[in-house]
Amino acid sequence: MKLLDGKHVSEHLKIEIAQEAADLLAKTGRKPHLVAILVGNDGGSETYVASKMRNCEKVGFKSSLIRYDNSVTEAELIVKITELNNDNSVDGFIVQLPLPQHINPETITEAIDYRKDVDGFHPVNLGRMQRNLPCFLPATPYGILLMLQFYNIDTEGKNCVVIGRSNIVGSPMSILMARNAKPGNCTVTLAHSKTKNLKEITLNADIIIAAIGKKNFVTADMVKQGAVVIDVGMNRETSTETKSGYKLFGDVYFEAVAPKCSYITPVPGGVGLMTIVSLLKNTLAAAKNEYYS
Ligand code: NAP
Repeated sequence: MKLLDGKHVSEHLKIEIAQEAADLLAKTGRKPHLVAILVGNDGGSETYVASKMRNCEKVGFKSSLIRYDNSVTEAELIVKITELNNDNSVDGFIVQLPLPQHINPETITEAIDYRKDVDGFHPVNLGRMQRNLPCFLPATPYGILLMLQFYNIDTEGKNCVVIGRSNIVGSPMSILMARNAKPGNCTVTLAHSKTKNLKEITLNADIIIAAIGKKNFVTADMVKQGAVVIDVGMNRETSTETKSGYKLFGDVYFEAVAPKCSYITPVPGGVGLMTIVSLLKNTLAAAKNEYYS
């Protein structure tokens, strides 16, 4: 079994990103600029956004954080989004999910100019992704592709089972793995909560991508010998063992599943770190007008 080491891969890619950002600064006098909008005080969101901001600084980007409390209205957020859409000093921006109940995430996503949608959630980017056209790919699936690429994992003709069909992870992941691309060219099954006989399906998988949100959901009896297992899950539990006061668990029962795998991602230290790198790559691409002018 080989560990797909998100720390190693992300550090390697961040060196490349930092070099490109430095070249851009020398050429244009500008740093790539990412803005994050954070609503409320959700512990997970606070941690993820802080990490995104920190990583921007590390690779020589400018980053700005705009905070609102939970009472912000949808209309107020749209005003800010419109302002950012029209602000030439901003290359890309994200609105951290989840949002409070009274705000429709679809309305927010569609209000973002797709040319600044570095999370890759806007329907224009998702549509272009499906058609294999240049676009901002959704950050987590993009990170998984970068990971597969880095380790030169052969995906062509393989059976890939994606568990979970969310708009931000499972659904786009299934499209990316089925595209005529490298990585890609898999025969994909997209499983969800209504799927019957899931174990029968996963036992036929060469590659399993778990994005469910349930600790230890994928057990050893669901995995065939030699499979590649990618664990997207980030399940936070309070803990007295850590300084932060919580512990992260994946969707895969790592200790039992790992001995059967050819490759597996750990949690933490796997997909989460790659998601941040994808966001940096998308922001750099936005600053260079790589996909849209
Ligand atoms: P989500 O929107 O809650 O979607 C969960 C999916 O799992 C749904 O499609 C659901 O099916 C499916 N599901 C639930 N129970 C199931 C079951 N018993 N059998 C099969 N499928 C089942 O979650 P998400 O946003 O995709 O996130 C999934 C996990 O990834 C979470 O732990 C999240 O924290 C983590 N995450 C990590 C990163 C990262 O950077 N590492 C990024 C994003 C999310 P239905 O559609 O039928 O309800």
